[in-house]
Amino acid sequence: MIVKVAVPGPFLTPLDYRFDLAESPAPQVGVRVRVPFRNKELIGLVMAVQATPDYDVAKLKSIMAVLDAEPIFDADHLAFLAWAASYYHEPIGEVVQAALPKKLRAGDPLEIEGEEVWRLSQAGQSLQSADLPKNAKQQHALLAFLQTEQAGWSAAQLNARLTSWRAAMKKFMAEGWVTSHRGLCLPKSDFGVKPSHILNAEQQSAVQAVADLPPDQFKAFLLQGVTGSGKTEVYLGMIEAVLARGQQALVLVPEIGLTPQMVARFSAALQQPVATLHSGLNDSERLCAWHLIRTGQVKVLLGTRSAVFAPFADLGLCIIDEEHDLSFKQQEGFRYSARDLLVRRAFAEQVPVVLGSATPSLETLHNAQTGRFEHLRLTQRAAKAKLPSIKLLDIRGERIQEGVSRPLQVAMQRHLDAGGQVLLFLNRRGFAPVLMCHECGWQASCPSCDANMTLHYSGQHHGHLRCHHCGYQAAAPQTCPSCQSTEFVQVGQGTERLTETIQSWFPDKTVLRIDRDTTRLKGSMAELTEQARSGAADILIGTQMLAKGHHFPKVTLVGLLDIDQGLFGADFRAAERMAQLILQVAGRAGRGEAAGEVLIQTHHPDHPLLLTLIRDGYDAFAAKALQERQIAKLPPFRFQLMLRAEATHPQAGMAFLHALKQSLQETLAQWPAEEAKPVEIWGPVSAPMERRQGRYRYQLLLQAPKRAQLQSLFAQVEPLIYQSPLTRKVRWSVDVDPQEMN
Ligand code: ADP
Ligand code: ZN
Ligand code: ZN
Repeated sequence: MIVKVAVPGPFLTPLDYRFDLAESPAPQVGVRVRVPFRNKELIGLVMAVQATPDYDVAKLKSIMAVLDAEPIFDADHLAFLAWAASYYHEPIGEVVQAALPKKLRAGDPLEIEGEEVWRLSQAGQSLQSADLPKNAKQQHALLAFLQTEQAGWSAAQLNARLTSWRAAMKKFMAEGWVTSHRGLCLPKSDFGVKPSHILNAEQQSAVQAVADLPPDQFKAFLLQGVTGSGKTEVYLGMIEAVLARGQQALVLVPEIGLTPQMVARFSAALQQPVATLHSGLNDSERLCAWHLIRTGQVKVLLGTRSAVFAPFADLGLCIIDEEHDLSFKQQEGFRYSARDLLVRRAFAEQVPVVLGSATPSLETLHNAQTGRFEHLRLTQRAAKAKLPSIKLLDIRGERIQEGVSRPLQVAMQRHLDAGGQVLLFLNRRGFAPVLMCHECGWQASCPSCDANMTLHYSGQHHGHLRCHHCGYQAAAPQTCPSCQSTEFVQVGQGTERLTETIQSWFPDKTVLRIDRDTTRLKGSMAELTEQARSGAADILIGTQMLAKGHHFPKVTLVGLLDIDQGLFGADFRAAERMAQLILQVAGRAGRGEAAGEVLIQTHHPDHPLLLTLIRDGYDAFAAKALQERQIAKLPPFRFQLMLRAEATHPQAGMAFLHALKQSLQETLAQWPAEEAKPVEIWGPVSAPMERRQGRYRYQLLLQAPKRAQLQSLFAQVEPLIYQSPLTRKVRWSVDVDPQEMN
């Protein structure tokens, strides 16, 4: 018997192994096996079994162990993974790796024992804080905590919420006040009160469009709803209908969007436990969530990008929120689009899929316009909220202080006086993006990247420099390395500097900065957004982290400080991204009862796309932008495939891509002219940032009117790459439907 095993590594197809273990039943398709490879052992997944070998199996190595009694993935799911491998030209073993939780990749058993969970015993339940020693703070905190949840808490959950608890727990155990047992990581049983919204007519008909579909039917929907229109309520309505049929739902959200508040909102509305998969979980928690969904014990999964691979017992609906968000595209390694895979998955499983956004990507809009997706719309804000008014502030010739123009400063004062909250958006973290010598003009740049280092203080007295591209850090110099001068200028604003400025202008107001630096610690994002939401902070300053889906009902003024750079990016998607960002940030204003105002500072108040966006809205903007794309023969009217190569040696990547281009052209020369002619090959050229992390980077772009042309062209050349000795010196990658041209 030949067993085809997907193992991690650069192998285009599964590897063949022999099965001759006497003591183990033959492996089924979809189970994990341990196999020898060179002088290592690898864990792989059985993709196929060939009972009657068509060649001599004596030369094959034998499977060492079969790890699972039952398949981890069913045949449909395996087919989905195989499809992803072939579409993205990613080795199947790597796709399987992406689909498995780390513990399963490492060979842990599929059946999980569960983690240790502590809860109050019978005796402990009557315990009151007065029964504890007065100064035993830890014990008081632990008791209060245990009283909130009958089902108990795991170590991971306790760690996330209490600074120290083990000593107190030991004491409680000794007293017999708590019991411990191994339980599944079942989400909490207390779902809170079910809120009762009455859906408005548009929301209702959107829900109905999905609920009315016969079961087991694929259909793709674009749910385009302005910010605050109640898209989440619509998702919940759709999910309820699916749950009523006994099926499960998968909801993908951007990394930033998956907040504890969102999870709580889902489980309260659905009165069910909701499983989550995101980067904040540890390996056990991931495996557990995965297990609960795979076995059907939990019906709803809220997850980020990689949750698209999670196996379901009976999937009935797929949803992706903020579908335009770039975080759904994996930008390294296996470069998949979770959005596109989700649509494919829904098709394979014959279930509906809903792509939601206030600012849909042009690809998705195009799909809606050509009839591939049904277009559902929510044109109004839910409840009493109104859409904010958006105005461009022409700051040419205006006095700008620390990046803030006088009219914006005045507007801030006005809104604060009226009791409103103000949000300032500046998409640059740190103190200043450039540190320059005042004498000779020397600038602090990264030793391994073609980029400036950003100056940070983060509360310390002495500044330090950080490269935002490779993470390199260094103390800020005291004297200029070039001329020994001690005079430096800090050029430009980052959120850190802006916060300092704003705090000095409004000394009695609470200013809150929300960016990657202030939210690095676990739980801090939740804490900061809660302060923002409750109104405990008066002024919010943040990067695009603040733009994503947050509901801050007290914000009445939103100011966008520095958007001009984004208008003129080298990437053909720059304007689209900018428009999405502007409307998403603007959408944070006026979500409560008070009306919202949005002010955008710009030196380019006549920029045509910007004008269209502000005057006529996203649809008009998108129509224009799509027209431009069509004329320029760019996606979504063309398909692209990007090949990248990088090496520490300058030019090695370029040489590799030149060789590759030649192979591609030779292949094309054999094609019938009418198929070959529309395929374009651009480059190779150096990447916009040629050197990053000490590597010189180059790219080659393929473009064609039909996807199939690119797919088959690259598939013909791919085996040559895998055999090429050049790959020893360069790191190369293939990016199907690239989202960024960097
Ligand atoms: P979106 O996801 O479209 O930005 P949300 O779903 O977060 O919007 O809804 C915005 C706010 O409006 C939320 O506070 C939500 O509870 C409220 N809301 C949504 N739909 C309704 C409704 N039909 N009636 C009352 N309030 C609603
Ligand atoms: Zn100098
Ligand atoms: Zn760097």
